Amino acid sequence: MRLAKVIVDVPTMQTNDPYTYLVPDELSDKIQKGMRVIVPFGNGSRKIQGIIADVDNDGEFDGKLKKIEGILDLEPVLNPELLSLSKWMSKKTYAFQISCILTMLPSVMRAKYQKQLVLNSDDVDDDILKLFDGSTVIDFDVDKLPNDIVRKIIQARKKRQVVIKYKVQDNAKAKKIYALSSKISTDEAKHELENIRKNSKNLIKILQYIISHPGESIAQRKLAKDYDISESSIKTAIQKNWFKRFLQEEYRNPYKQTVKRNYPLKLNDDQANAVNTISDSIEKENDQVYLLEGVTGSGKTEVYLQTIQRALKMGKTALMLVPEISLTPQMVKRVKGRFGDRVAMLHSGLSSGEKYDEWRRIENGEADVVVGARSAIFAPLDNIGVIIMDEEHESSYKQDDAPRYHTRDVAKWRANYHNCPLVLGSATPSLESRARATKGVYTLIRLPHRINNQSLPEVRIIDMKEQMKENGQEDFSNELLAAINNRLQKHEQVVLMLNRRGYSSFVMCRNCGFVLHCPNCDISLTLHMDSRTMKCHYCGHEEPIPNKCRNCGSKKIRYYGTGTQKVQQQLQRLVPNARILRMDVDTTRRKGSHERLLQRFGNGDADILLGTQMIAKGLDFPNVTLVGVLNADTSLDLPDFRSSERTFDLLTQVSGRAGRAEKSGLVYVQTFNPDNYAIQLSKKQDYELFYRKEMSIRHETNYPPYFFTVKITASDVNESKAAAKMFEIAKILKAKLSQQAIMLGPSPSSILKLKNKYYYQIIIKYKHEPNMDECLEYILNHYQKDAQKGLYVNIDPDPLNFM
Ligand code: ADP
Ligand code: ZN
Ligand code: ZN
Repeated sequence: MRLAKVIVDVPTMQTNDPYTYLVPDELSDKIQKGMRVIVPFGNGSRKIQGIIADVDNDGEFDGKLKKIEGILDLEPVLNPELLSLSKWMSKKTYAFQISCILTMLPSVMRAKYQKQLVLNSDDVDDDILKLFDGSTVIDFDVDKLPNDIVRKIIQARKKRQVVIKYKVQDNAKAKKIYALSSKISTDEAKHELENIRKNSKNLIKILQYIISHPGESIAQRKLAKDYDISESSIKTAIQKNWFKRFLQEEYRNPYKQTVKRNYPLKLNDDQANAVNTISDSIEKENDQVYLLEGVTGSGKTEVYLQTIQRALKMGKTALMLVPEISLTPQMVKRVKGRFGDRVAMLHSGLSSGEKYDEWRRIENGEADVVVGARSAIFAPLDNIGVIIMDEEHESSYKQDDAPRYHTRDVAKWRANYHNCPLVLGSATPSLESRARATKGVYTLIRLPHRINNQSLPEVRIIDMKEQMKENGQEDFSNELLAAINNRLQKHEQVVLMLNRRGYSSFVMCRNCGFVLHCPNCDISLTLHMDSRTMKCHYCGHEEPIPNKCRNCGSKKIRYYGTGTQKVQQQLQRLVPNARILRMDVDTTRRKGSHERLLQRFGNGDADILLGTQMIAKGLDFPNVTLVGVLNADTSLDLPDFRSSERTFDLLTQVSGRAGRAEKSGLVYVQTFNPDNYAIQLSKKQDYELFYRKEMSIRHETNYPPYFFTVKITASDVNESKAAAKMFEIAKILKAKLSQQAIMLGPSPSSILKLKNKYYYQIIIKYKHEPNMDECLEYILNHYQKDAQKGLYVNIDPDPLNFM
């Protein structure tokens, strides 16, 4: 018997054990491991999607087997590597394998199910007949039908008058276009050309094309356009058997504008050493992990590019990951400009169709350099020579939803699979990675100097408490304002960072202290002047700006906090002649607007770039000599043991935008906590010192990298249900884990209520817990049935977010 093991996708009934299905004879030739299939499931006529995990050619099975119903792919969508990666990932992240598989595929390939109602007999209730309106099959959406009709359908179904079917739509369609290849030889074409009427201009052009492009094929549309040939003449040529016409996959090109070619720079000694060391590992095929610790502006990107070049020279491919936020047009241009069409880009700016096309180009081997954000780690590259992770400390590398994987772990797995080095690059490595380098698990390579030995910018800290006494409510200190004016006079540019968006953080009543909160979430609403509304940044709730207090009725309402819009107005008032560009979520919503803003700033069309933390990373503008951080404290106040690390990272990154070329840079950091060690050490930009200080704090408080952590969360619309579930889970954990495991909670999450759901959590800190895996897998499986009732239990291994 030919049997197939199929991993099925049944929400709220997931399991990691594949089901066995019989392969029917008619599919026998086609079926392969890694293909998506349609299989019957349960005892009804339910049809679901699954993926073939294994095929057994002469299997044995007692009992009744269901047959595979159909296949969705002509070729496997997952190669053996990605299939086994999904298995490992499912264990590592306590997620179901099917959800890991779906995460790896481009979103358009996650087929949607559409139910259909099929009419079996005309002898059926009139209302149902009306529904069919003359046809025998209709799309069926229970949610959209009135209840009485649904009841009638249930009745009719019992009597077998109607049947429900599942239609699986495969919406991953490659775009196909017509292409032509010549069927006649050059000599034959020359012969035709001699005999053709002189006024058949179009046909002459076609023959000339065939003569000058022997053996080539061309898109029909392109032939018509580029050679100015009429479509009807092309048809005639096809009829004359000069051309063979066929369908060819066309890729939607996400980078239509041509990128200027750039060439390798002559490396300095530190860079050359880094490239040579890593390339040596590529050649020897060893899966060493390198931590490339280089100060901002030390030329890490050039090291990446030349390492990739070495890998390509050895006939291998390369995978480069960058945080979404640094996939700036500048970065894209550097990579595309160096490697041209060999590069595939995967990031959120692409439409799902464009992403699918890039994915196909990688799979077909047409692209051998892949650059992308988190999910690009699953790019179906073959024969990988090097994997690079830029800004490895960035928290966006960890996925927030199941499967809660960290890109770094997946990268290590793939590096191991391909026997290739992994390069983790950063100016401020995560403590976890830096600690591994200290222990010798990773190899540390340092780039301690900026290119051209330009010094790091000087950082000055401004105590805003003092400023408040002098200046009142202004967001700008006198020193910063003076410096801005000075740069404007010298025609140099300024980058200002504010760690928030919106016009003003919240609205408070000065009479009773009432703050307007989102009705769905435990979060204050943010004022947006452009839409003149109060918005919730979590659930999107929107309401008019209040003109009197909802609690006491007083009209003394005040705007508190700072937002980019408000700061822009204040700045314009204080420095009237400055040309200011604002960059935040609101001004970069439209496709390409991010790029246009940066281009304008790069062209010198503005003096000041004011933005949220999206401006902190990756930007390389030589004329920027002043950077200002308006409120360094925002990230310090978070209830998270990593808040100091994040603050230090952010300040170091944003300071790195200043003085990257010949002119030296200056940075002002405004803060209400001038004595905080993260702020003090970011002034010196001494990562190594910060690392040692922070490590000693982590050691004292039993946090990573000394301890592992797991976060378990329960959520429900009913607060007591979520809490009760967490206490139940706490009991299980206490029974199974050792005395050394430290349990924090159960407690309400810092944002107790979100989108109308209440969150309770437990954090476990542990060193060695042999039972941990088993225990968490039990929780994963056991609480799945609660999800049907709306109570969700989530497990987050090594969480980056503790709130
Ligand atoms: P990092 O990624 O470490 O912040 P970059 O790679 O962006 O640094 O380099 C900073 C600047 O120095 C860039 O403008 C880059 O083109 C330039 N650069 C890098 N390497 C060299 C080199 N070897 N010679 C000259 N300029 C270089
Ligand atoms: Zn909300
Ligand atoms: Zn009030």
